[in-house]
Amino acid sequence: MTVSREIDDILQRGADGGRITPEEALLLYTDAPLHPLGEAADVVRRRRYPDGIVTYIIDRNINYTNVCVTACKFCAFYRAPKHREGWTHPTEEILRRCAEAVDLGATQVMLQGGHHPDYGVEYYEELFSSVKQAYPQLVIHSIGPSEILHMAKVSGVSLEEAITRIKAAGLDSIAGAGAEMLPERPRKAIAPLKESGERWCEVMALAHKLGVESTATMMMGTGETNAERIEHLRMIRDVQDQADAGGYGGFRSFIPWTYQPENNHLKGRTQATNLEYLRLIAVSRLFFATIPHLQASWLTTGKEVGQLALHMGVDDLGSIMLEENVISSAGARHRSNLHQLIEMIRSAGFVPAQRDTLYRHLRVHWTPADDPTDDRVVSHFSSIALPGGGVGGRRLPLVEAN
Ligand code: SF4
Repeated sequence: MTVSREIDDILQRGADGGRITPEEALLLYTDAPLHPLGEAADVVRRRRYPDGIVTYIIDRNINYTNVCVTACKFCAFYRAPKHREGWTHPTEEILRRCAEAVDLGATQVMLQGGHHPDYGVEYYEELFSSVKQAYPQLVIHSIGPSEILHMAKVSGVSLEEAITRIKAAGLDSIAGAGAEMLPERPRKAIAPLKESGERWCEVMALAHKLGVESTATMMMGTGETNAERIEHLRMIRDVQDQADAGGYGGFRSFIPWTYQPENNHLKGRTQATNLEYLRLIAVSRLFFATIPHLQASWLTTGKEVGQLALHMGVDDLGSIMLEENVISSAGARHRSNLHQLIEMIRSAGFVPAQRDTLYRHLRVHWTPADDPTDDRVVSHFSSIALPGGGVGGRRLPLVEAN
C-alpha cells in the first residue's frame, strides 16, 4: 500500500470513529495533507456536536503562592523559597478575588500555585473548604498531579489519602496542569525536578478511580520531537482507557498549548509553529475517541488560530479567564473581552454558548440578541504584572481588551 493510500485509510477510520494506533497518529501528524487531516477531525467534531455550538467558560485563575521548590526551566512564574519577590496570599485575599469573580459571572476557579515547601494536605483542605463555604456556587477545578504529590510528601500521607481529603474539602475536579511533556527525555530537559510522566499519569488514574475527574494538557514547543508529541498523547489515552474500562469518568477535555518563551531559563528555544499546533489539534480529535472535549488555547496562539482550530476538531474555546499569571509571565499577550470571544466563535461559523465545568450549556447565544450585556468581563489580566504582585487587596482592574 502506498503511504498516501495508507493515510487515506487511517483518516477514514478516524473520521468514522475508529481507533487509531500511536504509529498511525504519528504518520498523520507528519505526513497527512493539512486539509484532509482537518476535515477528518471536523467530521468527528460535527458528529459529536451536531448543534454547531462552541463553548466557553468564565473563570478565574487564582494563584495562592509563587514560591516553588521545583524550578522548572520553562517557568517564568515561580520564585525560590526566600527570594525577595516570593509571595503568598492569605485566605482572605483569595476569598476577595473569588468575590470579584462571582460578581463578574465566573462559575469556576482554578486555584494554582507553586510547590511551597510548607504546603501540605492541611493547607489545601483549609483553602478549598474556605472557598466552598464562602462561595458554594463556585466549582473548584484546580491543581494537578504535581501539587498532589507535593502535598502528600509534605504531610507524609499516601496519595489516596491526599486525594480523598482534598476532595472532601471541596475540590471538584483536577485541572491538568503540570503535564508539560510527559515522555522522559523532553520532560527531564525542561522540568528535571518534576515528577516523571508515568507518575503524573498514575496520579490522574488514581484520582479518576476515586471519583475526581480532570482535564489533560500538553505544552508543546520546547524542543520535543514529533514522536514525543504523539507519545504524550498515547500516555494520556492509556489513562483514559483505564477509566473507560472501569466505567468511571476520566479526562473531560484535552488542552494543548504552545510554550511561551519570555522570562525563563529556556529562552531562545523554538516555539511550536501555528501549523504544528493545528495539526496536533486535528490528530488529537481523531486519536482521543473517548475524551469528549478538545480546547483551543487562543491565549497562546491568538484568536485567528483559535478560529481555525474550531474547523479542525475543537469544540471549546476555554475561558474568559478573569486573571491568569503563569502563562502571561512567559509572554502570552492575547486578551479578549466576552463580546470579542463570542464574536470570535460566531464569525467562525458556530453558535457560542457559556458552559459550566461539566460542559453543560448555561447560556446559548443563538443570535446577538442573546448576548450578555456586561462589558466588564475581560480576560487574562495578570495581577503580578503590577508592583507588589497583586498583594494587599489590589482590585481587579476592569480594563479594555486589546
Ligand atoms: S511550573 Fe509549577 S512546579 Fe514548575 S516551577 Fe513553575 S510553579 Fe513550580
